Order: sequence, then C-alpha cells, then structure tokens
Amino acid sequence: MQTETKTKGKLLKKMGRAIEDFSMIAEGDKVMVCLSGGKDSYTLLDLLLDVQRRAPVKFEILAVNLDQKQPDFPEEVLPNYLTTRKVPHRIVEEDTYSIVTAHIPEGKTYCSLCSRLRRGILYNVAVEEKCTKIALGHHGDDIIATFLMNLFYVGQLKAMPPILRSDDGRNTIIRPLAYCQEAEIAKYSEEQQFPIIPCNLCGAQPNLKRARIKRLINELEKETPFIRQTMMTALTNVTGSHLLDNELYDFRNFEPMIKAIPAGHGSVEKELDEVFDHSESAFATQNPTIRTAAAELVQ
Ligand code: SF4
Repeated sequence: MQTETKTKGKLLKKMGRAIEDFSMIAEGDKVMVCLSGGKDSYTLLDLLLDVQRRAPVKFEILAVNLDQKQPDFPEEVLPNYLTTRKVPHRIVEEDTYSIVTAHIPEGKTYCSLCSRLRRGILYNVAVEEKCTKIALGHHGDDIIATFLMNLFYVGQLKAMPPILRSDDGRNTIIRPLAYCQEAEIAKYSEEQQFPIIPCNLCGAQPNLKRARIKRLINELEKETPFIRQTMMTALTNVTGSHLLDNELYDFRNFEPMIKAIPAGHGSVEKELDEVFDHSESAFATQNPTIRTAAAELVQ
C-alpha cells in the first residue's frame, strides 16, 4: 500500500469531482487506460487504481500501451512496471512508425497521421477487450490550451470534452484528469518516480502553435495568478445569449422569446453599466472560490 502524499490527495479529490460531475464511470464499467509512458498517463493510471479501491461503484481497469515501434522505444519498461504493480494490461505492437515515415516527407509533421492510426488501433482494442470506457490522460492545461488554439487559429469556441462518444457509437472516451493542473501532475510524477519514457522518440517536430499558447498562458499567469482556474471556471459557465451563435441562442426569434424570459434573467442596466464602466471591477470574477484564493494571494 502506497502512502498518500498531499499532492496525491489534491489530485484524487479533483479526479473524484470530475468523475462525478461528468458521470464518467458507472457500476460494471471496464475502463481501458491508455498508457504512453509519459507523466500524465502514469498519473491517470495510478490515481484510477486508487479510485477503484475506494469507490462505491465496482469497475475494472485494463492498462493498454501501444508500442508504435519508434526507434529506441524501451519496450520492457511498461510491462515491468505493470507486472510489478499487478495491473491487468495488454501491450499492443503495431509498427505505425514505419507507415508514418513512409507517407510523410521528412521535416513535415507526423502527428496527424500518427494520431489517427493510433486512435483507430486503440478503439479496436477497446472493442475486442469489451472495454466500456477509454480513459485518456489529458488534463486541465490541455483543455484550456485547446480552447485557446480553437479560438485563435480555428475560429471556434470549443475545448476538449470530458466525456465523448465516438462517431460510430462503439467507444466512449473519458478524461478523468480534466480538473487537474499539469504542474501538480508533474510534481506527483516526480514524487512517485514513474519510469518515464521520453516523448520525442518519433522525432516529430514540436507543435509550435501549442508551445506558443503555453507560453502565453505562463506569461499571463505572472500578472493574473489564477488565470488557469478562471479559464477552467469560464468553461463551466457559458452564457449563450452573450455570444453570437444563432444555433446556441435563437436571436432570429428574439421578439417572441423575450416575452418568455423570466424576470431577473439578465439586466439591461447592468449591460449598459458594463459598456460604460471601464474600471477593473466591472470584470471582477463572480466565482467565490477564485475570489477567495485571489484575496489570500494579495494579503
Ligand atoms: S508526437 Fe510523435 S508519437 Fe506523438 S502523435 Fe506526433 S508523431 Fe505520433
């Protein structure tokens, strides 16, 4: 039995909340945990094993690693780790590396073909293994970075869903680390000394746009320490009528709808105040948790 560090306690609490908020795991589920050998997926597996021991619902875990035959991939590391920890697992060997390098010219980014191949293989393995959920190691920082990338480069207001059914209906993916921050995961991974496998074995170019967004968030965090929490909270707090999407809010039927709006929903005075009020207080957070944390920081 491992001892529970403060970092682990915090992460477990956040994972428990995400599982509950988004109904990620139900009685009788078999959860396939995708393990790449990076800090995020080790943390995901480690915490889910803990949740499995404590949760009132009974569910199974199967750890799956896809060995893509990248040069110098240390193929004994994950089986050794999983065997030592007595985790049911399957290592899938598929040489997607050769397919990708044969089809993509050198210097171009491999990721889009590589990830499509990997997704197809893992989805099929989940069906073969009768797994009802596929757990991925994306965390809160991935979610807000994706949100900003879609906003700045794609022209869409969307992030990463915490739970998603595949288009063909065969698989459901979940992201139990959705509320966890990357820095906490990195700290936990160090504490646990997970046997990390480097993520640059494929030789792919780093994603420059993602790196830029990460830098931007880090820069903003220096001025606004709770920027990450604020962005995450914003994603749970969407006001469709204050965006410009006719699918989300039926502006074309505004006149008939306005009669049905209950009293107290929105305030024209407040809207006008916000337009004319250029002070910072007009944009103070309404979220009590962020407000308290920010107040403590400036004391
Ligand atoms: S970084 Fe490498 S392993 Fe990851 S998706 Fe891109 S090509 Fe594939």
